Amino acid sequence: MIDFSLTEEQQQLQDLARKFAKEEIIPKAAHHDESGEYPKEIARKAWELGLMNTHIPQEYGGLGLGVLEGCIITEELAYGCTGIATAMEANTLAAAPIIVAGNDEQKKEFLGLLASEPTFAAYCVTEPGAGSDVSGIRTVAKKDGDDYVINGSKMWITNAGVASWYFVLAYTDPAAKHKGMSGFVVPANTPGIIVGKKEWNMGQRASDTRGITFENVRIPARYRLGNEGDGFKIAMTAFDYTRPPVAAGAVGLSRRAMDEAIQYAQTRKTFGQPIANYQAVSFMIADMAKDIEAGRLLVHKSAWLKDNGHRNTKWAAIAKAFCADMAMRVTTDAVQVFGGYGYSSEYPVEKLMRDAKIYQIYEGTSQIQRLIIAKEIFERG
Ligand SMILES: Cc1cc2nc3c(=O)[nH]c(=O)nc-3n(C[C@H](O)[C@H](O)[C@H](O)COP(=O)(O)OP(=O)(O)OC[C@H]3O[C@@H](n4cnc5c(N)ncnc54)[C@H](O)[C@@H]3O)c2cc1C
Repeated sequence: MIDFSLTEEQQQLQDLARKFAKEEIIPKAAHHDESGEYPKEIARKAWELGLMNTHIPQEYGGLGLGVLEGCIITEELAYGCTGIATAMEANTLAAAPIIVAGNDEQKKEFLGLLASEPTFAAYCVTEPGAGSDVSGIRTVAKKDGDDYVINGSKMWITNAGVASWYFVLAYTDPAAKHKGMSGFVVPANTPGIIVGKKEWNMGQRASDTRGITFENVRIPARYRLGNEGDGFKIAMTAFDYTRPPVAAGAVGLSRRAMDEAIQYAQTRKTFGQPIANYQAVSFMIADMAKDIEAGRLLVHKSAWLKDNGHRNTKWAAIAKAFCADMAMRVTTDAVQVFGGYGYSSEYPVEKLMRDAKIYQIYEGTSQIQRLIIAKEIFERG
């Protein structure tokens, strides 16, 4: 039987996140976009309300909620501002490798920290020379007695400047390619870590993106996740947990753009009547509505599969690709509905369009999602 209704608990979470976005995020979104200031205070309040780190299991101090609940919350926070939502959501990505492969001690130490204090973490895979092609990374972790010594540079790391620990992917055996990578948790106060300047990006400026250099960073071997050689698999499996909420963020952003467009179309008049009366305009909004509804169904299905113990790699990639491309289309059309005012930073849709673009790039580009979907179809049926 298919049931599209939310449980009472899910509805409460949705209401809480919606209220939070309305009262705490929307009024401050423009400030964070203009200044690039990290939304630490907003995140702290969200953390106190239980709107962050919802996926951390209860035995490590978290709420132990599912991927679906995370998606429901993220859609609402992203409706408020995706830059602020991404700043919070980056913790989910950093924590996922530990949830996937961490032992009890690692979970207690690192997930426990996120659950017990309003702190941040970051996922460090991309490098200046390698993004889509993860095998091209050059960071190495060399075993030295009971330690590993890490050397290399990461790029485009969300939360790099505020994180208290990093998940770091590095080669322990470069000759073995994908099977020679290992994943580590690295406390941010370890000597030898140099965090770069904040990048001034096109959109989602509240989010903190930086490069990080690791120079002879020595960490105990007990901070390695899983076995040597497991790193690539761990880093990629994490996306099964995080692509659904990322796609949910794109749905929230699109819904906001549509609402702004609906409101404007009903008040802006040309040739003596509201522009909503013109089919050319109302059909743009009808297309937004149908794509947003479809996108949300994909998000919920990809999350439901994960929560119910099924492989969701294909569905997570479908949801991510569909919703990212949809967000770009919807926000571009929202700017169109606003005409010249849409192009101005005085009105919100310009920011929404800038914010939308990154969904087609981070957590795997839209092209890479299609590669994954095709691989799943042809290799797994
Ligand atoms: C704001 C921001 C935040 C980010 N946050 C993080 C983070 O927290 N942690 C992290 O590790 N990374 C992060 N990233 C990095 C992001 O995941 C990468 O930018 C992304 O994976 C693409 O890699 P790239 O930039 O090296 O582009 P490239 O891999 O060089 O790709 C360039 C273009 O070529 C296309 N392309 C590449 N290979 C193929 C192919 N085989 N077939 C078809 N098309 C292809 C791509 O789709 C893209 O259009 C972030 C990036 C940004 C901009």
